[in-house]
Amino acid sequence: MTRLDRRAFGRLLLAGGVGVGLPGAWGCGGGDPADYTPEDAEQLLRQEREEAERAGRGRFGPLRFRGYRGLAELPWFELTSEGRLRTTAELPGILYIHAHLGMDFYRALDQTRRSDRVRHWLDCDAEDPGCALDLDVYVNANFTEAEHAALPWQFLEGAFGLGPTRTHTAANLLAEMDDVGVAQAALLPIAAALPFAASLTERWTRAIRENHWQDRLLPFASVDPHDPDAPARLRAHADAGARGVKLHPEMQRFFPDEPGAMALYQVCRERALPVVFHAGRSGIEPERIRKFALMRRYEPAVSAFPEVRFVFGHGGARDLERAIPIARVHANVWLGLSSLGVSQIDRALEALGPERLLFGSDWPFYHLATPLAKILIVTRGDPTVRDALLRHNAEALLA
Ligand SMILES: [Zn+2]
Repeated sequence: MTRLDRRAFGRLLLAGGVGVGLPGAWGCGGGDPADYTPEDAEQLLRQEREEAERAGRGRFGPLRFRGYRGLAELPWFELTSEGRLRTTAELPGILYIHAHLGMDFYRALDQTRRSDRVRHWLDCDAEDPGCALDLDVYVNANFTEAEHAALPWQFLEGAFGLGPTRTHTAANLLAEMDDVGVAQAALLPIAAALPFAASLTERWTRAIRENHWQDRLLPFASVDPHDPDAPARLRAHADAGARGVKLHPEMQRFFPDEPGAMALYQVCRERALPVVFHAGRSGIEPERIRKFALMRRYEPAVSAFPEVRFVFGHGGARDLERAIPIARVHANVWLGLSSLGVSQIDRALEALGPERLLFGSDWPFYHLATPLAKILIVTRGDPTVRDALLRHNAEALLA
């Protein structure tokens, strides 16, 4: 690859998790100005400003810690003698909907490899004391500018099985799950439109089968909505045991209501597969790809397919206030709680009730204890709601 291609490629990979994305060379320029209006842009800036002003001033007070290890200050966690963070709480065997492994597009990771320490993308325990970790903001606000700038290169290395990605193996995920009481995790691959890239769906599904991890890791599928064969591919993944489908409009640069995507929801209806979307704007992606994640483009999909269960990953991210009215009207919409701040989780709970909220963390971006701590704070004194968020709702989603 030329230098420019590599840079573009790195940004494309980065779009996978934090939504930092696709340069114009990948074909997202131009388009209809109505797809992304000045009001859309202003509304995002307003959300970021208001969230920063309000952080720590809500009913849960300031929630700032030093590193993931700092969460041991909370009543539900402790540090082991080896310095691993673990939970001491009685939990229902968490079923967790939003995990990834390293995006090993060009060289398969050894999924059985363990490391002393996982280098999460937000590598908050790299130093001691760790980084400033605020639980009352959208979680990506905890990255520094320099860390953001480094991510595309680290993702590029990761596609070849190098850098922090080396630690993003299933074996390390399982060990972290053991530490914090997660019984099962849904693994979400992303089908990137990259030349010669391996299918993460096939790669990860095979790793689960070969290592007999079926009791703990639930394989999801991903396909490219632009691919005319995508419906057939999705049926084949369902035949091979996929429990649902993951779609990322920003990284895969499609509108959730465009025909290729609608054809996929039809397969989901046939096969009773839930759809987990990356939904809403995370705020750190380039503006030109934000149009793909605006909540108004999800509504036609969820209303045309009332029998299909749709999860808005990250609860609509910084567009939570646009996601809530859609979820109110459409009973087939669920909100994932990975990445939202404590006050935002509380807001979703108050607006929608607990039944359609799901625990997730976007591992390996963040330690699994990060969203767990938030849910334990919000549901303090309410074990019924806590168990619903941590397990029973996800069971209902996958039933
Ligand atoms: Zn994700």
